[in-house]
Amino acid sequence: MDANIHSEPGKRGQDMAGEPCASWLPMLTLVAAGEELDPAEQDRLAAHLAGCAACSAVLDRERELLALLAAHREEPDAALLASCRAGLADALDRDR
Ligand SMILES: [Zn+2]
Repeated sequence: MDANIHSEPGKRGQDMAGEPCASWLPMLTLVAAGEELDPAEQDRLAAHLAGCAACSAVLDRERELLALLAAHREEPDAALLASCRAGLADALDRDR
């Protein structure tokens, strides 16, 4: 769907470290959270990160943030867990 966004870097003047690419953000978040990607997706992501400083920076930052959160979590967040369960029940209901 976003096939040509990254063709010809340099001609558009948008590849400086600035805004990360919106189409990659969800994947960056998943990867930072430790989610496994398909080998093909991993290759695509690695190739993109090699040429996109903004997305690499986002991935670094997300990883740091999650590491910090994990290090400081002393007890499970009951409210968060409850809302996760409610959301899950919702989704299951809708699925039927
Ligand atoms: Zn990017």
